[in-house]
Amino acid sequence: MKYYILFGPPGAGKGTHAGAIAQKYNLKHISTGELLRAEIAAGTELGKQAKTLIDAGSLVPDSVVEGMIETAFDTIKGVDGFLLDGFPRNLSQAADLDKILEKRGESVTAVAGLMISDDMIRERIKGRAVIEGRADDASDETVNNRIKTYHAQTEPLIEYYKAAGKYWEVNVDGGEIAENRARVLALMDKIA
Ligand code: ADP
Repeated sequence: MKYYILFGPPGAGKGTHAGAIAQKYNLKHISTGELLRAEIAAGTELGKQAKTLIDAGSLVPDSVVEGMIETAFDTIKGVDGFLLDGFPRNLSQAADLDKILEKRGESVTAVAGLMISDDMIRERIKGRAVIEGRADDASDETVNNRIKTYHAQTEPLIEYYKAAGKYWEVNVDGGEIAENRARVLALMDKIA
């Protein structure tokens, strides 16, 4: 099985391009953000707890997202691998993912980073707020906290995966969706 990580700050376009990548390489796309939003929509206890943290622009506890990831690995069949989107999001999740995969005799295949500037993060999220109606996209304060959370907790993963020789990235700061999709797929062709 292949285990790809689609990496990048909020608003970089991970969700926008994940479907095309998953289809091309027969992968299951797993977005921890989407799984959490499904819990919120279903009104579960987990969803209620997650909503407060998500709306503040903070991360939900590692154990919550790691449980979702392990369940997906255990239950999803008939694909050549997984495309993880929004996970891991801090160093302890990355270390735990290595352990989860090691138990299964597997390892992270490669990390594809989608890079944009902080100004572009704000611009893209502002545009998306109108279309998708996500509460965590609508408030400037939440978006600023997500940018801070990204730099403090998620960005260090770049060095973690570089040290493992598994990190590649593409610049998608600006440009049309189709143009960026072509860049992202070209990167995947290189690392797949
Ligand atoms: P985006 O990357 O556009 O900000 P996501 O859908 O990936 O959106 O995530 C939305 C929110 O869900 C995050 O801000 C965070 O609160 C929570 N979340 C998603 N994935 C994780 C994760 N791996 N660990 C902790 N919290 C997460």
